[in-house]
Amino acid sequence: MLLTSGKAERTELYKERNTQVLISKFLSSEIIELHPIFDTKLGYRYPTVEAITGNPTDSEALLKKLYEVGILERKLFDKVILCQKCSSASVSVHYCCPYCKSFDIRKSALIEHVKCGYMDVEENFIKSGKLTCPKCHEDLKKLDIDYRRAGIWCTCKDCGKSFDIPVTGLFCRDCHSNFTFEDAVIKDVYSYSLKEEARQETALGWVLIAPIKELLTQNGFEVQGPAFVKGKSGANHMFDVVARSKELSKKLTVVDLATSMENEVSEQPVIALFAKIFDVSPENAYLIAIPKINDNGKKMAELYNIQVVEARNEKEAIRVLKEKMK
Ligand SMILES: [Zn+2]
Ligand SMILES: [Zn+2]
Ligand SMILES: [Zn+2]
Repeated sequence: MLLTSGKAERTELYKERNTQVLISKFLSSEIIELHPIFDTKLGYRYPTVEAITGNPTDSEALLKKLYEVGILERKLFDKVILCQKCSSASVSVHYCCPYCKSFDIRKSALIEHVKCGYMDVEENFIKSGKLTCPKCHEDLKKLDIDYRRAGIWCTCKDCGKSFDIPVTGLFCRDCHSNFTFEDAVIKDVYSYSLKEEARQETALGWVLIAPIKELLTQNGFEVQGPAFVKGKSGANHMFDVVARSKELSKKLTVVDLATSMENEVSEQPVIALFAKIFDVSPENAYLIAIPKINDNGKKMAELYNIQVVEARNEKEAIRVLKEKMK
């Protein structure tokens, strides 16, 4: 799989502070899998994310966005039932009498005495702490040999009727309204983890940007990154690293990173970089391709005057970039 799908959106998001803080917690293994914590008022919450965004609403929006662009993956963790009236998550399930809908029912176990075939609820078999058949007065000793459990039997304490399957009703503990399954709002709740692709993109990119900036700083540049540069058209273009020489001329160097989980980077990042440098006209433009670039990309880069640095890792990238800058 190539990293082109959603890559532009991911690249934008990687530059946002909240995304960076959250991803770094995954990269450092502070979070392996992000689980929600139950809160009776709000339903599930993600306290770790709230510590970054400041509130539950923004946390959910951030997680949703990161999932949609392919940075996080999610697993269904639970479903919460929300009150249709007040949206509270403090909802209890009532098992009710199918005849009069009262939830004041008694649930009992049904027992059958195998020998005489008598069947009744467990309470009627209990006699001075033992199980005794009320019909033939024999003691019941071994489960599944002389007696068996024959299911559940419910009795309504209001109308007195008996039944085996109750109907469910829902009760909001906050606004005290009763409602049914049909009216219930059911919300999916997820646990999240960092996608392997995103881990590679960020780990490599973030590991690389720092030494590239350092190298350019040592070479007498003022360095920023990721940063925007305003082009002749008036549009702002973002580069992974932007460096300006400290001389009066303020000569501009821009660097972009491209990684591929497969063997080679496609020509796509070359085209993207060309579109930007066409407008920005830097002195030098570098594309760092990890681990290498395809032939088409190489040809196009030459044509567009983009210098490609092919490297399998961070050290190699810095070494090659250093040589090219001489
Ligand atoms: Zn009833
Ligand atoms: Zn019996
Ligand atoms: Zn309610």
